[in-house]
Formats: sequence, C-alpha cells, structure tokens
Amino acid sequence: MPCPPERIHGRCVLPPFFTGAGELAFDGDDLHTRFMLLLESRLSKAYSGASVRIVCLDLEGVLVPEVWIEFAGRTGIPELRRTTRDEPDYDTLMRYRLDILARRRLGLSDIQEVIAGMGPLPGARVFLDSLRESYQVVILSDTFYEFAYPLMRQLAWPTLFCHSLETDAAGFVTNYHLRMPDQKRQAVRRFRELNFKVVAAGDSYNDTAMLGAAHGGILFSPPENVAREFPQFPVARDYLALRAEIDRAFAGLA
Ligand SMILES: [Mg+2]
Repeated sequence: MPCPPERIHGRCVLPPFFTGAGELAFDGDDLHTRFMLLLESRLSKAYSGASVRIVCLDLEGVLVPEVWIEFAGRTGIPELRRTTRDEPDYDTLMRYRLDILARRRLGLSDIQEVIAGMGPLPGARVFLDSLRESYQVVILSDTFYEFAYPLMRQLAWPTLFCHSLETDAAGFVTNYHLRMPDQKRQAVRRFRELNFKVVAAGDSYNDTAMLGAAHGGILFSPPENVAREFPQFPVARDYLALRAEIDRAFAGLA
C-alpha cells in the first residue's frame, strides 16, 4: 500500500530509540511505507503537539557550564572570570576579554579545544533528547557559534540562535558581532506571531525578558537574588523538575 508522500515526508520523525532497529531495513517502498506508518502511529500521540509548541532554552547554566567562568578555571586566567555583574557595559567587557585572549596568544582552535573538554552539564543530553521527542526546541543564547560549536556536537546539534566571532587569518579572535540586540525576547515574540505556543527556561537576568515574553517562563537553578526578584516564574532545580514545569506550562495553555 503506497503511502501519500506528505505522510512520509511531512510529520514522521526518527527518534533516537529507533536508530538501533537494524532488522527494519529500507529495502523496498512498501516496507519503507509500512515502517513509516508504524513509526507514525507510535509517535503521533507524543508528538502531536510538537508542531505548534516551541521550548526556548537558554544555554549556559541550563545545558552547559558558564563558558567564560569555566574557561577561566581551565586555562588558569582568573581575569576572565569577570562577568556583566562586574562590568555592566557588555562591549567594554568583550573588548577586555578579547584583549586577554590576544595577549595570551590563545587562538580560536585553542579556545575550542578547552571548551570541548567542558562537556554539557550532567544529564543535559538525555534531558534535551527527550524534550526534542515531544516539542520543537530552540536554544536562545548570548554566546557565540564558534564557542558553542564543540558543545553543540555533544548535544547532537540542536537549533541554536546566538552571535558570532570574527577571526584573522592566523585564527585569533579579533571582533564579535551581535546578530541583533535583545535577541532572546525578540525570537520569542516572533515565534508567537507565527502562532506557536512558547515556553521558555533560563537561569539568569538576561533570560527574564524572554521568560516574560513567552506563554510560560521557568527559572532553572537561578541565583537566589534572581529567584527573589522574579517570583512570578516557577523555579526548577533539576532536569526532572524542569521537564515537569514545561509539561505543566503547556498543559495550562490547552
Ligand atoms: Mg544562562
């Protein structure tokens, strides 16, 4: 029985637990069709809401460590622990950081090697894989693609919206480019305009505008002062609790 092309190409998605199903080889159209229908019937219930539901996640502090702080520790350069809490002007802070990297002769490949060694936070990959089986997931971060690259590989390449770095011919970082200001909140607003239901989660001040713009906002392991200042957002302190809050937020929108 041939399957209409839109059923094969439209909504069927291979989840991780099927990747080891070697006995279901694609050696014919009918077998392929039957396999896809079987797959679709298994997934349709869990996945039915995914086309209209987006989870927006912050990256650092939610799925991976704070990159600059971890990087400072691993390279033994304590000056790189300076954050926006110490220097509120982001451009001044970034110039300061890039100047240190240049003086220490740390090129992008050196930096990426250190970042690759960090790895995601314990349990982050399992949490994210499971979340992506039920919802569309977009990571909204103020980091840079070039820094995030080694960590995204370890998270199976989720969708990431962030900023970019500029390097010279020798591979040293010479500048940074913000794709746009206030991009987390703007992305959530645009997703809503596209008729998605959006639940967002993040850990710090730079996430609260995004949380407020979403249908539901959740703080994940925030510092106490952030949790105190934004009591309107529920707080989750581990991935099980975060998943429960996400599911609860979407259920409340049904
Ligand atoms: Mg964060």
